[in-house]
Amino acid sequence: MTLNIGVIGTGMIGQTHIRCITQALSGAAIAAVSDANRDLAKEVANDLPDAEVFDAGQELIESDHVDAVIVTSWGSTHEEFVLASIAAGKPVFCEKPLATEAAACRRIIDAEVAHGSRLVQVGFMRRYDVAYRVLKTVVDSGEIGAPLIYYSGHRNPEVPGSYTREMAIVDTAVHDFDMARWLLGEELVGIRVLPAKRNSRGGELLDPLLMILESESGVLVNVETSVNIAYGYDIRGEVVGETGTASLADRNLVDIRSAGARSGRIPADWRERFVGAFDTELQEWIDAIASGVAPTGPNSWDGYAATVVCDAGVESLAAGDRVAIALGTKPALYDSH
Ligand code: NAP
Repeated sequence: MTLNIGVIGTGMIGQTHIRCITQALSGAAIAAVSDANRDLAKEVANDLPDAEVFDAGQELIESDHVDAVIVTSWGSTHEEFVLASIAAGKPVFCEKPLATEAAACRRIIDAEVAHGSRLVQVGFMRRYDVAYRVLKTVVDSGEIGAPLIYYSGHRNPEVPGSYTREMAIVDTAVHDFDMARWLLGEELVGIRVLPAKRNSRGGELLDPLLMILESESGVLVNVETSVNIAYGYDIRGEVVGETGTASLADRNLVDIRSAGARSGRIPADWRERFVGAFDTELQEWIDAIASGVAPTGPNSWDGYAATVVCDAGVESLAAGDRVAIALGTKPALYDSH
């Protein structure tokens, strides 16, 4: 059976996912597209023989030809399309953020709980990266003892002029927050955001930022965002346990020895670093739906938790102080994930 997918938002990541589904993955086809910019949607559909173009996301969701929905429009529109997908009883893969406000995430959780089973998956693709998965296996095995500290470095060579101060937290560090919750298997309860001495390449941005978070059991999580660091896109992760440490290794296919030095490649951007993770993320989502089981990837609660941590981070940056993170009660629907 082929899963017929409708994509709302045919911008950069929407096109990336469409290419991935049509060129690399199996079991799914793009049956419909929609974008606020109809000309763009039509242009994208030109390469998709079976895709219908819809003026509105809502119509796409309700189409009988669409089995499942991918939401890749702007973050502020996600709530509307995810709620409509739940109302239609259709599985929906929503790029991060699940919604830009915690209250909106809560409305999605309420709707999904009322529906009675999981329909929503959120695009935290690092959970599908081979290296992160091995890191989690090592942590869960107990080989390094109980985790005490987690270091997470998120470095971009540069960011566009439209990048704001808060985006270092809500757009960049949000992935590190999700990794910390997933690796440690517990919630984060507090955050303090500290601007370092400014990188002169960053203009008015507060860059780099150092964030110190605490987990429920007292593990400290240290997130560094450096978004003008020039040398490449570098993702670091190290868990310090009671008896050992485990860290993401550099994964070079080729080791270069030249002019008295040994070197390897550093990815240019997130596409290069996480291309495999995006493929695995969508293939596992497609396979789960096709086999009739609920997706087991990042769920609405994970999306909600990430937004609450981001809100607390933005508040901490403004206040210059620690801010508590309060999630409230997790519905049983999300207990096993
Ligand atoms: P983008 O290139 O601006 O694409 C978004 C598209 O959505 C645009 O074509 C926009 O049209 C369209 N759109 C806006 N409102 C809409 C609506 N109501 N209905 C239908 N289409 C609408 O942005 P992007 O970089 O692809 O990012 C999209 C989302 O993916 C964001 O939430 C972003 O955070 C997320 N993302 C996640 C990752 C990841 O690592 N997981 C990476 C990149 C992006 P107009 O521009 O014409 O208004």
